Amino acid sequence: MSRRALITGITGQDGAYLAQFLLERDYEVHGMVRRASTESFERIAPFRDSVALHQADLLDQLSIITLMRDVRPHEVYNLAAQSFVPTSWLQPLLTGEFTALGVTRMLEAVRLIDPEIRFYQASSSEMFGQVREEPQNEQTAFWPRSPYGVAKVYGHWITVNYRESYDIFACSGILFNHESPLRGKEFVTRKITDAVARIKLGVQDKLMLGNLDAMRDWGFAGDYVRAMWLMLQQETPDDYVVATGQKHSVREFAELAFGHVGLDYRDYVEIDPAFFRPAEVNTLRGDASKAQAELGWETEVSFERLITMMVDADMERVRREIAGRG
Ligand code: NDP
Ligand code: GDP
Repeated sequence: MSRRALITGITGQDGAYLAQFLLERDYEVHGMVRRASTESFERIAPFRDSVALHQADLLDQLSIITLMRDVRPHEVYNLAAQSFVPTSWLQPLLTGEFTALGVTRMLEAVRLIDPEIRFYQASSSEMFGQVREEPQNEQTAFWPRSPYGVAKVYGHWITVNYRESYDIFACSGILFNHESPLRGKEFVTRKITDAVARIKLGVQDKLMLGNLDAMRDWGFAGDYVRAMWLMLQQETPDDYVVATGQKHSVREFAELAFGHVGLDYRDYVEIDPAFFRPAEVNTLRGDASKAQAELGWETEVSFERLITMMVDADMERVRREIAGRG
């Protein structure tokens, strides 16, 4: 009998990679989607017919309980969230409802329907914020710098608390930034690779960015969903940092992305103070040695390969868009 997985946030970047990963392992995959007047199933289009989608919302407790009762999953991956840091200053309450209390609603449904369900919570390196040490590991103290980071700290601790209070198999994966051709276009990596393609193909002139000196530990989303799954296959639940252990600046990312198509980023990138943040996370670099030792997890895609993969995918997509217009 195949195992059943329920993914919240299946229409997002990680949801799409994780669904594909689980389908390849013969899982029956169920996805929670919120109701919208226009469907946004673009990322899961290639395997849309192989997954079962159900309407529910992180804001609505009863909808989550009903979903859990109907699907009766063996594993739940809670990836849904308001995930964009700048939006969390514009909508701090909504961010708290989705990204913080949404986790409790999911855990309450697990507790009520079947406490044997294995639960994964998508925690974030943004919890480290103003970093207390480098590199950051599972013991590093949190100092979140945005309403998003604060909400994720709540999500992390409520996951730990349900494990300790109710013996639920609940894991918190503290994932550092991970990107792919499916990354949302407002995040800096995809914003850059999309602009590189559009500039190279003559449909955009400039790229406006904020803090070029910010440093991140960027990995490939396809590698990171494997770590999520591995966490739920262990004998005991635990929390793990997932990261590459290397950091690069936004400037370096832009230099390599433009360089890949023979352009110099300095000719196209301009600074727009509108993209500076009220409080910045200047630098992040993770220590994933626990995940490596206990899960046998390794990152397979390098920083350079990630950039060329993203630029190539955007070049192809923008070319198709231009051809479609003509
Ligand atoms: P995305 O922003 O691409 O996807 C977010 C998903 O959440 C979408 O499917 C969205 O649905 C869904 N969602 C948002 N609000 C609700 C709601 N109220 N009810 C139901 N669904 C909702 O995020 P990623 O795939 O990049 O990230 C996955 C998770 O991992 C997130 O929790 C994120 O915060 C966390 N994370 C991500 C990192 C990264 O670098 N990518 C790093 C660390 C943590 P819709 O399509 O309807 O908008
Ligand atoms: P985050 O780490 O989850 O906030 O991921 P982002 O990709 O949104 O941002 C990563 C870093 O890039 C942050 O330190 C931003 O300040 C910096 N950055 C610089 N310019 C931009 C920009 O134009 N857009 C975004 N999203 N981030 C930018």
